[in-house]
Amino acid sequence: MEIKYFRTHISYFIISYILLLFFLFFTSYKFFLNDSFSLEKTQNENNIKIFLTNIDNEMKNLKNTTNDYSAWDDTYEFIKNKNKQYIYENFREGSETLKNLGIDSMIYVNLENKVIFSIYNNKDLENNKSNFEEFITTKFKEKTNLNSIINFNSNFLYLSKSEILKSDKSGKSRGYVITIKLLDNTQLNNTIFKKIEIKNEKIISSDLNLNLQVLENIKIRTETTSNDMLNTIDFFDYNDEYIISINTSNKRELVNNAEKTIYIFNLIVSIVLFLVFYFIYKNQYLIQTRNDVLNKEVTRRTRQLDKAFRKLKDKNKELYSLAHIDSLTKIRNRRSFFIESEELLNSAIKNDKNLCVLMIDLDHFKSINDKYGHSIGDKVLIEFCLIVNSIIDEKAIFGRIGGEEFCITFFNKNIKSVENIAEKIRNNCANKQIILENNEILNFTISMGLNCRDNFDNIDKILQKSDELLYEAKKTGRNRLIRFHR
Ligand code: GH3
Ligand code: MG
Ligand code: MG
Repeated sequence: MEIKYFRTHISYFIISYILLLFFLFFTSYKFFLNDSFSLEKTQNENNIKIFLTNIDNEMKNLKNTTNDYSAWDDTYEFIKNKNKQYIYENFREGSETLKNLGIDSMIYVNLENKVIFSIYNNKDLENNKSNFEEFITTKFKEKTNLNSIINFNSNFLYLSKSEILKSDKSGKSRGYVITIKLLDNTQLNNTIFKKIEIKNEKIISSDLNLNLQVLENIKIRTETTSNDMLNTIDFFDYNDEYIISINTSNKRELVNNAEKTIYIFNLIVSIVLFLVFYFIYKNQYLIQTRNDVLNKEVTRRTRQLDKAFRKLKDKNKELYSLAHIDSLTKIRNRRSFFIESEELLNSAIKNDKNLCVLMIDLDHFKSINDKYGHSIGDKVLIEFCLIVNSIIDEKAIFGRIGGEEFCITFFNKNIKSVENIAEKIRNNCANKQIILENNEILNFTISMGLNCRDNFDNIDKILQKSDELLYEAKKTGRNRLIRFHR
């Protein structure tokens, strides 16, 4: 029973502990990790913004340079007519070289889309000069102003085209300046992303929109794997034609770190929780064990007390009987008779009820003792009491007030019926045949004095009167009842 109770306790503790752990893990991952997820997403988006803003700035610079050069329509005139290289290099004091401007190629085109002058700062492009110029002049023929990223023989380039207008404010066009700048990996890789790849794979959907100054038509898709944040940035030209994709990736450090932190935090909290549960359980177990011991002790003590109490009750009974019952005849002793009769007398006075006291003495009892022995005398006394008890009811107070003297107090009974009872007792005694061991028959008689009238304020006085009447019965021949009559 106790072991079962104890086990139920252990399982309670284990279940509560596991539930708490679940709750802890659930809440910590739900709140802390979710925060890290959204933080990481925002950070990644910011990285893309910075990355694309850098590219956009490059294009803006190129566009500004191109606009500068297209504004000098005198240059165009010189270039068109004179020693072009010389003019380009010496047109103005401090003219900047392509290298200084950070440009890979600059091409002047007339209104018929014919190249009239080109200069290169890039060997690859220069070696492919005729193809490249053919591509540039035909592909962007219709466009008077353009800023874009282009793909030429798998080279990715920034391109800026600007119209040269006449400086006489007629607004007529002279031709175009086209500047080219290589979009190379080394330049791109110097960014916040861990890894950058240029690819030729176009994506379908876009989930991030950015407003940039020069760059347009960009589609961005972000993907999250367990370890990395992957972005695919697709560039399209003004005709919605696909040009190039840039894939970037960053390690998911924020979430990974958060995961690690949460893991360590949960581990520590789990251990602390375990210790708390363990100590509570230990305490509980100790209290339980102590309670059990205490309960056992209490039960043992209670049993002991019960036993002692029963003994005391028996002793009390014994004492009561010693104090109130006559040991030989088992009827009230003198003391008990007087106490109870006194109570009845008081009640009779108070309620104006009738009270009768019958005094009985066995006749010639001394001679019975003398003839048959004391023990036979005792037996006669017991037989006499049995006769009386068989006649009177339990309301009557019957007691032994002396050796062979007895008294009966009747409450609220009319005198006639008391007389009848007395006569019946006397008769039954006279007719009683006590058969002795030697089959000898012993007879005995009694004499009685009945007082129902006299001295009704004091039990002793009532008895005194009864005694007088009894004495009269003895005197007048015994085996008779003398009642008070006035
Ligand atoms: P009377 O008819 O005048 O009453 O004569 P009696 O012999 O009965 O009266 P008496 O007073 O001379 O004797 C009473 C006797 O009762 C004396 C005593 O030995 C005896 N007696 C008293 N108590 C007991 C008792 O408990 N047992 C026995 N066997 N005898 C008792
Ligand atoms: Mg006597
Ligand atoms: Mg007598």
